[in-house]
Amino acid sequence: MRVDVLVVGLGPAGGAAAAEAARLGLRVAAVERKRRVGVPVQCAEFIPLPLGRHARAQGVLLQRIAGMRSFLPSGAMTRSEFAGLMIDRAAFDQALARQARAAGAQVLLGSRLIGLDFGAQRASVLTPGGGMEIAYGALIAADGPHSAVARCLGEPPLEVVHTRQYTVPLQRPAADTDIWLSPEYPGGYGWLFPKGRLANLGVGADKRLAADLKGPLDRLHRRLMEEGRVGGGIVGRTGGAIPVGGPRARLAVGNVMFAGDAAGLAHPVSGGGIAAAVLSGERAARAAAAMGGGDHYAAAEFEQDIRDQFGAAFARAVARRRWLARRREAGAAGEDAVQRRGWIGFPEYFGR
Ligand SMILES: Cc1cc2nc3c(=O)[nH]c(=O)nc-3n(C[C@H](O)[C@H](O)[C@H](O)COP(=O)(O)OP(=O)(O)OC[C@H]3O[C@@H](n4cnc5c(N)ncnc54)[C@H](O)[C@@H]3O)c2cc1C
Repeated sequence: MRVDVLVVGLGPAGGAAAAEAARLGLRVAAVERKRRVGVPVQCAEFIPLPLGRHARAQGVLLQRIAGMRSFLPSGAMTRSEFAGLMIDRAAFDQALARQARAAGAQVLLGSRLIGLDFGAQRASVLTPGGGMEIAYGALIAADGPHSAVARCLGEPPLEVVHTRQYTVPLQRPAADTDIWLSPEYPGGYGWLFPKGRLANLGVGADKRLAADLKGPLDRLHRRLMEEGRVGGGIVGRTGGAIPVGGPRARLAVGNVMFAGDAAGLAHPVSGGGIAAAVLSGERAARAAAAMGGGDHYAAAEFEQDIRDQFGAAFARAVARRRWLARRREAGAAGEDAVQRRGWIGFPEYFGR
């Protein structure tokens, strides 16, 4: 098979990339190793309000969020305005993949990229029907935090935080997300994100410092049960890795462009990455179209564009992570003042 653009991975980055590239009239193939797009879900399912235009498909929007409550180690709480939407993440990813198909992209599910001949611009893909070679003009690597494309190119692995999450019954409706900052979650935090009668309850932490996430998650769950906020039943379990080291050193290598988590575009402090995945996927698709039109600078411009969009905010977040890690090593992670400087819900985070 020969295409203008090969998209690897059909999460938000790949779905947005495939849809945009197909809309621009390119011949697009998208390969996704899962048999059903978006399943299983590995997400707390919150998106910021500006991404709402992508949440219009039926079954995607679950509830609106008004603000965020951040709890410090002392128990003190600060509420900030932080409007967003809770989504059914599987339905969100599936809607993007449907748009890609409707625009003419060829979607190959249950199909995994297993090799890359960079010089010849050919990818080896293992499909349910057997091995397949795909020749491409441009390749968009949207294959998540452990990108196989990056591995094939010898690009270094990304620094990640690990997470564990339960979906639990919510005893009364809530309009805010809750965040817990504590030495119990080194390099991460605890969260409760309401979605109607259910909520996503999770913890994330640096695996080198917190090998066991089940203990802290079960303790948070028990505490919220005792407070009468959530039920004891667990209706879903998930988890996964989130890149937290900021953008990759190289976002474009020849005709290969990285988007979303594969590019390291999840926010290094909040871990949110859906919005950046969609945006970078769309931008990579436009760059692929420009490349096809003979623009030799398109990949470099894509890289610059993404760094312009996210560079400053992510650099601050990485610096805050490093600072928090040093304070943690000094035994100060239990101090409210330290956590305030390390979390986006407080003005100190944005100070000097
Ligand atoms: C527990 C958890 C909670 C989170 N909560 C939020 C949240 O509330 N809000 C938010 O904005 N972000 C959240 N994130 C981060 C967010 O999920 C990611 O930033 C987002 O999924 C990035 O999208 P993506 O398309 O780049 O990557 P992914 O969604 O990871 O998609 C990559 C796709 O590539 C496929 N793939 C991988 N390797 C191959 C291969 N070799 N061949 C073919 N296909 C392949 C995978 O199967 C996958 O479908 C959370 C992450 C986790 C783990």
